[in-house]
Amino acid sequence: MTESQTTRSLNFIEEIIESDLASGKWDGRVHTRFPPEPNGYLHIGHAKSICLNFGLAKKYGGKCNLRFDDTNPVKEEQAYIDAIIEDVRWLEFDWGEHVLYASDYFEQMYEWAVALIKSGDAYVCDLSLDEVRRLRGTLTTPGVDSPYRDRDVDENLDLFAKMRAGEFPDGSRTLRAKIDMAHANMILRDPVMYRIVHATHPRTGDTWCIYPLYDWAHGLEDSIESITHSICTLEFEIHRPLYDWFLSKLGVHHPQQIEFARLELTRTLMSKRKLLLLVNEGCVTGWDDPRMPTLSGMRRRGFTPEAIRNFCDRIGVAKFNSTIDLALLEHCVRDDLNKKSLRVMGVLNPLKVVIENYPEGQDDRLDAVNNPEDPSAGTRQVPFSRVLYIERDDFMEDPPRKFFRLAPGREVRLRYAYFITCTDVIKNDVGQVVELRCTYDPATRGGDAPDGRKVKGTLHWVSAEHALTVEVRLFDHLFLEDDADENTKASGKGKTQSVKATAADKNSTDTRETPTDEVTSNLNPHSLDVRPTCFVEPSLAGAQPGDRFQFERLGYFCVDAESTSDRLVVNRTLTLRDTWAKMKQKGKT
Ligand code: ATP
Ligand code: MG
Repeated sequence: MTESQTTRSLNFIEEIIESDLASGKWDGRVHTRFPPEPNGYLHIGHAKSICLNFGLAKKYGGKCNLRFDDTNPVKEEQAYIDAIIEDVRWLEFDWGEHVLYASDYFEQMYEWAVALIKSGDAYVCDLSLDEVRRLRGTLTTPGVDSPYRDRDVDENLDLFAKMRAGEFPDGSRTLRAKIDMAHANMILRDPVMYRIVHATHPRTGDTWCIYPLYDWAHGLEDSIESITHSICTLEFEIHRPLYDWFLSKLGVHHPQQIEFARLELTRTLMSKRKLLLLVNEGCVTGWDDPRMPTLSGMRRRGFTPEAIRNFCDRIGVAKFNSTIDLALLEHCVRDDLNKKSLRVMGVLNPLKVVIENYPEGQDDRLDAVNNPEDPSAGTRQVPFSRVLYIERDDFMEDPPRKFFRLAPGREVRLRYAYFITCTDVIKNDVGQVVELRCTYDPATRGGDAPDGRKVKGTLHWVSAEHALTVEVRLFDHLFLEDDADENTKASGKGKTQSVKATAADKNSTDTRETPTDEVTSNLNPHSLDVRPTCFVEPSLAGAQPGDRFQFERLGYFCVDAESTSDRLVVNRTLTLRDTWAKMKQKGKT
């Protein structure tokens, strides 16, 4: 457990659970679930739900199921199932022996639907989904009863069996719950339970051509699995009466639905539907593009599971929506990487330096500390020679007053090596600096002058002859504005509901599509900066995809999945500049 877990007060869900444990409500059981729909990859918002559900099970000695809510074959794929399993495993949570699937319960759900038809609580409706929607009324006007509402039980049973048998085309009929077309809560106006979709399901194939809608299916899934606390996001609060209605009509195990505020992050889109658009439009290289807010993207970029869990713990769980600053997530990542990353030296924008008084053909090995935060990480030797690279930005021919790095006639320290002094500047035909001539002071080996003389700048560097060439990918935010979702409102679309999370995203009768430009109009054209020819010290030889380093002064880096033994590719996870820690220092948070 992290420090904050042990010291913080209970959140409102823990309070509910502890009072249930005290009263013996569920015979002392705590059983939660994480129920993703396999219609895309998981994003950082899902991590909040994963940490919450699996975290509660762990804390109270209970269980948490990983259950796929695979009720909409049109949008779901096996590849998404595999990716989701990999992500949950990466976050290091345990779902027990089996992954569970809603599709395994289709037969039971069907039987329960038949039971509701028999008790007069459900009917087959011949209206199209559009007509169902149109006759639902509005917040201020009641809906209109379907002309098929009063069909008798036998006719309903017969038609429902025929729906299942594939005798009707897509969308021609639905099974609806018979509740109240004038109910103040529109969710209860005879909601659709089943629709006809002739589509091949990734798991059940062509066995079914009727599929249950979210509101009908979800409570049944929870009930079948003996879930105790069914935790979902706030937009489902108005759906809770329906969740309860179905389960009490059926008289089956009835978990308690509890809603919490979903994670919203600045500069981040969090909807699989919209992220899919970015992938399909080619705005990113795939779901695991390191700029994506997906767990697979973050993993590829170099974020750690510990950092993400710690972030989820710090943001806590509440009942009101708020937006978290992306800088806090980045702070958690830096905090973790700072403790773990081996320090190395690499140069992103190389400028050649020749040490004139260093003999040609000679080299030297200097001791360098692997991680000042972790003495057990030890030291390594870094080669030094006559020709080096330093960062182009670390030299200025005509420096302003506060520039303490290299300039003509000035002495600086090369990290772990020597003091050097710039004696000459060599330029090409168009006046660009292409090489520096310097001298070094052998007495300063290791980085300190025996005569106590001080220098103001310390530069990172690599030995040209020994360096490895590496492709470095630098990232900036994927979206320009502070709130990716907010900004879509300013793109001329107005304050439409579709820019915010609604439960209609689920397998429901709502088929609104998101206009592409609502998602893509706010993209940062400079979010990716590829540097094909950078240099790193030879200790990176043999680095494997997923290995993480801190390049001194430049940030945290992670070897990319595309890296091979011939071609080293690294992603910059983050720079070292921690804006959240700075804001905190200034007392802004
Ligand atoms: P999306 O809109 O991205 O498709 P979803 O809610 O439709 O998200 P599901 O796969 O059904 O996606 O979600 C699985 C679980 O993750 C649900 O319990 C859902 O409430 C939760 N979840 C999704 N997004 C967030 C978020 N931003 N913050 C917290 N929990 C979330
Ligand atoms: Mg969704």
